[in-house]
Amino acid sequence: MTSNLYQIFIRLNRDERVVISKFGEILLTKGIYVYTGRAQRNLKQRILRHFRKNKVKFWHIDYLSTLNSAKIILVKIFRDQELTECKLVERTMIQFKSQIPIKGFGASDCRTCSSHLIKIESTNLEGCHSYNC
Ligand SMILES: [Zn+2]
Repeated sequence: MTSNLYQIFIRLNRDERVVISKFGEILLTKGIYVYTGRAQRNLKQRILRHFRKNKVKFWHIDYLSTLNSAKIILVKIFRDQELTECKLVERTMIQFKSQIPIKGFGASDCRTCSSHLIKIESTNLEGCHSYNC
């Protein structure tokens, strides 16, 4: 069994306003976002879905990933069974200078994090392909 835990790094090339019923109109500022998720079953399908621009918006992250100005620049898969989405978010926030752009975004089923989508300040992802990154 695998943990099916993943992160997608999305670069947003300009400021965008999106409307999500739960939040109203929100401003997503240009920069790099990291979304941490878990696929219950088919990890490959889930990740490929994130790349599709044309889809019914189901998850919060879909509102960001379907923007024409948004581009997935890195996908990371984690096989550590002990690792949870929340721990991974926490670790990533420490590693990169980060902020939470929208409280409650992409963490509807999580009671401990304020979001599973973070925005990182660093644009230097060099060496970011390793497991520990
Ligand atoms: Zn969490």
